[in-house]
Amino acid sequence: MNKKTIRDLPEGELRGKRVLVRVDFNVPLDENRNITDDTRIVESLPTIRYLVERGARVILVSHLGRPKGKPKDELRMDPIAKRLEELLGRKVTKVNDCIGEEVKRAVAQLKDGDVLLLENIRFYPEEEANDENFARALAELADIYVNDAFGAAHRAHASTAGVAKFLPAYAGFLMEKELEALGEKLNNPIRPFLAILGGAKVSSKIGVLRKLLEKVDVLLVGGGMSYTFIKAMGYEVGKSLLEEGMIEEARQILEVAQARGVRFELPLDFVVAPEGKEGIATRVVDWDKIPPDMGGFDIGPKTVEKFGEYIKEAKTIFWNGPLGLFEVNLFARGTIEIAKKVAEAAESGAIVVVGGGDTVAAIKQAGVERKITHISTGGGASLEFVEGRPLPGVEVLLDK
Ligand code: ADP
Ligand code: MG
Repeated sequence: MNKKTIRDLPEGELRGKRVLVRVDFNVPLDENRNITDDTRIVESLPTIRYLVERGARVILVSHLGRPKGKPKDELRMDPIAKRLEELLGRKVTKVNDCIGEEVKRAVAQLKDGDVLLLENIRFYPEEEANDENFARALAELADIYVNDAFGAAHRAHASTAGVAKFLPAYAGFLMEKELEALGEKLNNPIRPFLAILGGAKVSSKIGVLRKLLEKVDVLLVGGGMSYTFIKAMGYEVGKSLLEEGMIEEARQILEVAQARGVRFELPLDFVVAPEGKEGIATRVVDWDKIPPDMGGFDIGPKTVEKFGEYIKEAKTIFWNGPLGLFEVNLFARGTIEIAKKVAEAAESGAIVVVGGGDTVAAIKQAGVERKITHISTGGGASLEFVEGRPLPGVEVLLDK
């Protein structure tokens, strides 16, 4: 990696230093503010522990949800402080602000190895506006800045980018892990390199699609986006998801794939139904025989088998986008089967990298998350990074 990480700081350098760490603690909460998935907190522990063990005074900052620039009690960081305290096994002090006198006092009281959690940074509109004075006020709390919030690195906000103008900036271990998995591993892949793309829309994945076509040997496309391709080939898709405005783009992509010699595979069959809801009668039809009064909501068994053969042969696999309407049990099978197949491939030694909020949910639903080489904690960030777009939160870090 070409960016400095906290490992590049000489060990003695950290003792007694105030280190501001931008973490991604944007975890899902239920209506009683219980954390339903603490993956992002767990993933930040290696960085926090490393700093604590070397006597740094750790100041953590994150956003949570979308408070839209105003304090909202239901989006305060208190439940996160509690969970972090349990996971770390040491006291985490939480303050009710991000800057100002109360925070300065709390920072001044920190001893070596102490951990302080600031309030939800998006309570301030200055955060998303990347306001320079706000970034300076944050920076004044610390001596060193660490960005470990890969999931927010595609945003140029005060705590993800602006603050680095005033402090020496280093990557944390989660940031490093994400950049290695989504960057190096996919840019210099062990071949054959296979990508699986699904999800609802071609339009939201067009950048990733085009980029992957430059790199992969095989591209498997399923989910809602596959129907726009089928339409582009001149076939009808009934009531399936279709983006009329993307048909021409889809046609071009098929041409590019052919010109590059990439094997571009669309589903062979679909599970169709009059509507995508539980308890409805379904049928399996070939890809070119979708009835006009029905829509495709999952890939069929022939597709699962065919995709499975490619998955078995691949040495590097990147997957983004569910292959059907997996939130509805009736249409989850294709996605779950493919999740199991990529997990098997990972167990046999393939590098399997999964990104995208819904895809990660599907992997967890299939119960195979432990087997996957790398599950990205960044939804939008992972896609933008794979697309080859520079991430503001990474650009600002010190070069090696
Ligand atoms: P990710 O969050 O992993 O990047 P997307 O947000 O692009 O994935 O896509 C996920 C959504 O696509 C899910 O809500 C899923 O139900 C939907 N989807 C996938 N296939 C279909 C389909 N055939 N018809 C309707 N929706 C679909
Ligand atoms: Mg999504």
